[in-house]
Amino acid sequence: MQNHILVINCGSSSLKFSLIVPTSGETLLTGLAECISSSQATITLKYQGNKEQSSLSAPYDHQSAINHLVTFLTKHQLSDDIYAIGHRIVHGGEKYCQPTLITEQVKNSIQELAQLAPLHNPANLQGIAAAEQAFSSLPQVAIFDTAFHQSMPEHAYIYGLPYHLYQQHGIRKYGFHGTSHYFVSQQAAKIINKSPEQCNFISAHLGNGCSITAIKNGHSVDTSLGLTPLEGVMMGTRSGDIDPGIIFHLVDHLGYSLAEVKTVLNKKSGLLGVSELSNDCRAIEQAALDNNQQAKLALQIFSYRIAKSIASFSVCFEQLDGLIFTGGIGENSNLIRSMILSSLSLLNFHEDKAANQDIRFGKTGLISSSRSRSCWVIPTNEEWVIAQQSYQLLNSLSKGKET
Ligand code: ADP
Repeated sequence: MQNHILVINCGSSSLKFSLIVPTSGETLLTGLAECISSSQATITLKYQGNKEQSSLSAPYDHQSAINHLVTFLTKHQLSDDIYAIGHRIVHGGEKYCQPTLITEQVKNSIQELAQLAPLHNPANLQGIAAAEQAFSSLPQVAIFDTAFHQSMPEHAYIYGLPYHLYQQHGIRKYGFHGTSHYFVSQQAAKIINKSPEQCNFISAHLGNGCSITAIKNGHSVDTSLGLTPLEGVMMGTRSGDIDPGIIFHLVDHLGYSLAEVKTVLNKKSGLLGVSELSNDCRAIEQAALDNNQQAKLALQIFSYRIAKSIASFSVCFEQLDGLIFTGGIGENSNLIRSMILSSLSLLNFHEDKAANQDIRFGKTGLISSSRSRSCWVIPTNEEWVIAQQSYQLLNSLSKGKET
């Protein structure tokens, strides 16, 4: 039966994919092509407990990766069960707040929005082009990472800048990681047995990129990432919030070009910049254990800024059901979670040390003590949301045609 969704998340030099049963979330196949555009490009597929890695064939591009995947799907008789392709698209601007069937017009809009996401939207389009060529008879659906945040009120998304910059050029907060915040907030609502519309949460997606979101009655009402994924808390290699005056100082007095400033803020700051060791939280935690002072400082700044962002979002609520940690760091680093919670006692968050130690590596659970407001670790599953929403959209479109 044709009811599987192939989910594609395409970056400029990588392509992640998974084959998912949308109704249950069962993942049948996952894979990752890396170092695309170089002759070192490889593709790894995990299927039925086996892992298979191969070199990609020339021209080592996204199409080569998709062609390899198609050969694999055909060999394992998985192709005929695919119902549609669901694409993660980073920037949907103000135009796209819902899952959207990909047409020529939608592709043009994604291209126009590349102005706001120059690293991501063009790569997403390459993924769409490769998938359209390989699966020409199947519908392609776009799920936008910004969509969940389109419910933010004006006072949260307009910057304190001349208003015409918003009106004429769309300069506003958009937010990202929407699919992840949506997923974990839905899961948290299930845990407390309430409908999402009755729940208020703050969710912290902490991975290489990090964002905090205030979710009121099931809808995003504020989030830490902005026009671009540079605003907000400190991240793996991104600075997060800084005094914008630093940019002028670097250019006017220290001889940096704007391109160099962009690289510093996006690729050389954050955990990497402060520790001068790595952007990988595990490596920094190890170095801190070995008494490296810059590693310790990097972890302190990282946790402090996240706690500060979480606390700032208390202004969005009269009542709060709890805090959610997700993403590679949020799901696995009991140290970072503990450091964050220890700064949030005024909001009545208190860690249960044993539970916090125990809940890692894909486990879901409560890590707060009995006297605390609830705090959960909930592994994210953006791929399942993309599969579910693609499936639901196509079903509703086909029902619409029938009536
Ligand atoms: P991305 O944003 O690229 O999807 P992930 O969500 O996979 O990233 O998160 C990557 C981060 O998670 C890295 O900083 C990594 O060190 C961190 N991480 C993964 N496992 C652990 C762990 N056991 N302890 C601490 N940090 C971890």
